[in-house]
Formats: sequence, structure tokens, C-alpha cells
Amino acid sequence: MGETAERPEPTAVRGEEAQRIKREVLGIGDRRKHRTREARPLRPHVKEPHTHHRLYRFRFYPTEEQARQLERTFGACRWVYNEGLALRSEAWERHRVRVGFAETCRALTGWKRAEGTAWLREVSSTVLQQSLRHLDQAYKRFFISGARHPQRKRKGRSRDAAVYVRTGFRWVEDPKRPGTGLITLAKQSRPLDVRWSRELPAGVVPVRLSVTRDRAGRYFVSALVEERMAPLPAVFAPGTQEPKAVGVDLGLAALVTLDDGTKYDHPRLLKRYAEKLARCQRELHRKARGSRNRQKVRQRIARLYALISDVRSDMLDQLTTRLVRENQVLVVEDLSIASLLRGAHGTGSRRKARLNRMITDAAWAELLRKLRYKCAWYGRTLVIVGRFFPSTRRCSACHAQGPKMAVSVRQWTCAACGAAHDRDVNAAVNLRDEGLRLYKLVTDALPPGHTVPPVLKASELEAWSPAASSAAGRGARTDGPSAGMPVEPV
Ligand SMILES: [Zn+2]
Repeated sequence: MGETAERPEPTAVRGEEAQRIKREVLGIGDRRKHRTREARPLRPHVKEPHTHHRLYRFRFYPTEEQARQLERTFGACRWVYNEGLALRSEAWERHRVRVGFAETCRALTGWKRAEGTAWLREVSSTVLQQSLRHLDQAYKRFFISGARHPQRKRKGRSRDAAVYVRTGFRWVEDPKRPGTGLITLAKQSRPLDVRWSRELPAGVVPVRLSVTRDRAGRYFVSALVEERMAPLPAVFAPGTQEPKAVGVDLGLAALVTLDDGTKYDHPRLLKRYAEKLARCQRELHRKARGSRNRQKVRQRIARLYALISDVRSDMLDQLTTRLVRENQVLVVEDLSIASLLRGAHGTGSRRKARLNRMITDAAWAELLRKLRYKCAWYGRTLVIVGRFFPSTRRCSACHAQGPKMAVSVRQWTCAACGAAHDRDVNAAVNLRDEGLRLYKLVTDALPPGHTVPPVLKASELEAWSPAASSAAGRGARTDGPSAGMPVEPV
């Protein structure tokens, strides 16, 4: 809540005076050039039905020349971001003038002409504009959703990233192997050496590319494409007209438990990495600050983190794809409550336990993210059950509510009906039943011709009461791509 105090109070300087300050004090160029051009109305981009944004990530190996050019690009993006941030905050703090995205872009034109910063011209201007766009988005998050004030980007601390919009790269598809091809970035003479681990949809031109270098020194190019993805045929429970549903319990003993008793844990590989990571971290604390050896251990840790996240991502991709293919309705609990419930769990040192917990939390968050967008892609529904639903304490056989249970209790017997339960399987069954109940509530209230939205959140379902059903058809989020779009946060 500390941010609210920093929020600028609404006493902005406007009109002629603001224009003068921007021009004479802040050195933001005039808009006249753009005024002479006839304003063309913006054509809204109409997406075809069933097309979704999808991100494909590939590793690439830059030549020495490309690596140098990218190094300059990353540096310039950081510099422009920081300069834009300084301009916007100075304009406000000193002169009470608001500076927006378009004005930072005009200021960028000035910086490129300036004597000391002519090196900016070696970097594609659309890439630098994207950097200013990210700054603008960070400001919007600050003003609208109460995020913290944008921070300066620091070398070695912030992620190295550059975003190329459609005019910033050339794409030539390989006719022999559609979906792969040559990517040439602006200001570079040769195409990137991309390892095509899979194909893009054939005949599709990427909407934009983002080029990143992680802390382990690996380069990636992520292509955002608009892909047509037909919903999968509906699946019904065997021998019925009921949609097939699955309850997914997020736990600590097993990462994921399904209502049919299947349990998924972290792959063993991941545990071994986690142990290695804990060792490295202990080692790091023994090395002197700022020493060369400390730097080396830091690199090793970065590589391990990268490995862990790759292994985790692969495993979760397989799991979520399977779940989405085989079920029509997928039910999970609200993640906030799931992480609240986790006690101090884990064996070994506190540091290792903390690492395990961190990995588990990250896996849950990623699992939900993947389920969200895959449900939207394939015409499934993800139901997020409310945080007050007693999934663990309720007996799934007779619905009697038992007493609160310690995290260590793995098995219990219902006092009312005598049914013996595995803690997690019982919770998954409860989730499935509750999710199906909510799902039916929505389908019954749905006006004809409407499809069920890909995500139903119990806490937002009041709008679905039969009385409000007509409003709900419009109000509810019926198109998923923006909600679950797997786009990297930049
Ligand atoms: Zn019972």
C-alpha cells in the first residue's frame, strides 16, 4: 500500500504551458511532421474465429558479429528504457507535466541525433520504440492496477531482451521444410542460426519476435504467431451425456493428484538439480563478494535454474496436454489458498526445504497458466473452485465435513460413513464434483448459441444466476486468448 503515497496528485500542468515546457525544457521534438500527413483511420485487426496467439521458442547460436550487435541492442534497449523513465519522472516531479508514449518516441528521435548518443543509430528504431512501449505498459500497470513504480533496468540484473515487430525482421519460409526458414533481424546482414526444434504452423508469418539472452548466456528467439486451433471434439463420461471432468489437487506429497488416484510428482531429475542448486548456493555464500570465483558460481546457478525450468516446463506440457485432451471440464482449486495451506514441509536443511517449496510453487503457477490457455485453445473449460470450499475436510462419499487435519495426515476415515480416504484423492474427487456442479450452473443459465467460457472462476460466478443470465452472456470473458495468452512477461 506504500505505492499510493507516491502516486502523483492530479494537479498537472496542461495546454500551451505544458507544450512549451515539453519543447523548451525537456527537448521533446514537435509533432508538426506528423500533422501534415493525413490521418488514416485505424483499421481494427479482426481475428478469425479459433485463432489464438501462440508463442514458439527456439534456441539460436549467434555469430560473433551478431552477438556483438545483440549486445549493443540489449544495452540500447536498457538505456532507452531508463532514459524514458528519467524523462517521464522528471517531467512530472519538476514541471508537473505528463509525458506519454508518443512523446518519449519523439524524444528518442532527438537522442539519436545527439552527438554523444549517435550509437543508438546502430540499433533498429522499432526495437527501441518497443522498449519505450514496455515502459509505457509499466506505467499503465502502476497507474491502473497499483503495481510498483517502474524501475531502472540494470545490466546483469534485468533480463536481456529485444522485441522486433513485423517491420523489424525478415522471414523467408523454407519451401522444403514449411514452418521453418530464415530469420534476419534488422541491422544484421545474415540470418540467425536457429535450431528448429519444431515447426511453426506452415505459411504463417510471425507477428513479432522477441530475442532474449538468459543469465546462463543462452540465446533464444520467441516467435508470436496467430494460429488456427480448432476446438477438440467434446468428451463425455463413458456411457452418458455428461461432460467428462477431472479434479486436479495440487499438493505437497505429490505435485498433482487426480480424482482417479493417479499421482504426478516432480521428475527425479528435478530433485537432483534442486540438491545441486542448494549445494551451489551454499558455496556462493562462502565466496568473497565481488570475487571472480563468486561470479563463476553465479553462472553455474543461472545454468541450473535454466535447466530446472526447462525440465519442469516439458513435464507440465505433457501433463496438461494429456489432461486437456482427455477431459471436457478441468477443476482446480484457487492457487492462493493452495499455497497458504502449505506448511513448513520438506526434509533436510531449511534452505533446501525453501528451494523445494519455491520449485513447487513455480510448478503450480505454471500448471495453471498452461491449463488456462490450453482450455481456451481446445474448447475446454477450466473451473477454479473458490478458496472457501473445504476440499480436504469433506468426505467425498457422504459429504459430511470432518475436523481440520494437519498437513502430515495422509489417510483418514470418515466418522459419518466409515469410508477410508487418501487425503489428496478425496480432495480431487471433491473438486471434480464441485466443479461439475458449477459448470452445470453455468450451462443451464447460458442463453442458446453461447459457448461456455474457457475459464470459470467460482468467485466470479454470481453473475451467472439465472436472473442475470442475459447480461452474463456478454459480460463474461468468452474469448480466452487475451486471458490465457502464453506471452512472456517482458
Ligand atoms: Zn463419509
